[in-house]
Amino acid sequence: MQHLTTYLNVSRWYSLGWDTRGPALILRIQSEFARRVKKIPDDSHFVLGLKEHFGLGGFSGDLRGQFGFEGVFTREDPDNGFICFKVPFPVLNKEGGRCKYCGDGTDTEVCDCTACMGTGKKWSMDHHHAHAIVASLHAFLECMGSASIETHDPNPQLMEVFTSLGDGCYDLRGTFSKPLRGYLGTLSTGTRIACVEQAMIRSYSQLFGSLRPYASDHFRASVDHPEGWLNISCPGLDSSRISPFRDSFESSVAQAGEYAFVSDGVNTPCHQLVLLSALGALQDFADPLWREATRNPMEREEVM
Ligand SMILES: [Zn+2]
Repeated sequence: MQHLTTYLNVSRWYSLGWDTRGPALILRIQSEFARRVKKIPDDSHFVLGLKEHFGLGGFSGDLRGQFGFEGVFTREDPDNGFICFKVPFPVLNKEGGRCKYCGDGTDTEVCDCTACMGTGKKWSMDHHHAHAIVASLHAFLECMGSASIETHDPNPQLMEVFTSLGDGCYDLRGTFSKPLRGYLGTLSTGTRIACVEQAMIRSYSQLFGSLRPYASDHFRASVDHPEGWLNISCPGLDSSRISPFRDSFESSVAQAGEYAFVSDGVNTPCHQLVLLSALGALQDFADPLWREATRNPMEREEVM
């Protein structure tokens, strides 16, 4: 079912976005695509497998109606030919009393404690809710990636994203398309993309209830090599990050074409969500900019 499409300027069929006020991830599906894509039956092997693995409840697989497990997506008004869903990010860390590993009577200072991340309070993540969200997004992204339906949207697809769900492994992978890569390639090495970093800071603070013990500078979205090599990272057990798949990047350099990205160190559903918020913010940021950046030089000269 999973594949990564090879495309140059394919008409857009879906996009991710980020609403910092919710905060919430935004999903937009081109309405022609939504009309023609098959509904995911709630008794399919795929859905039953996720339900059983994560102990999840009701699922709806109809993009024209409701989508996701346990109602974690909310339907929004359509926007410019796109069906929209919002995926609110809740506070998932329910603090449950004092941390027993630090503070009074222990050898560990609160600020150095890794058990409670320097908060002094016992951590208790709502894993069930976290899994309901990442499983819903997994089903959504599989649905987007499995159907080959041509749309006539005037904008190109800027990225394609897939997720994995497993014990201690919540990887992401996908493609940055030629127009997006073309735009990233215009940014000089060392450029930090502030709005993408801000999205991660916001989503992390929300999901974990606090940024502690980290600081803003632990969240990075930076062009670290020429030709649009983008690294995105947030603090994890080590560090959770998205970076270009080296072989794909190298082979695409000559054409400044699309390249594949992969993730590393994504050990919890929350870290997957933080990186998804970064990708949503990246798309919102690049959308008004790619057109100018990727226009061919001849055209640009004519305009000048
Ligand atoms: Zn502690």
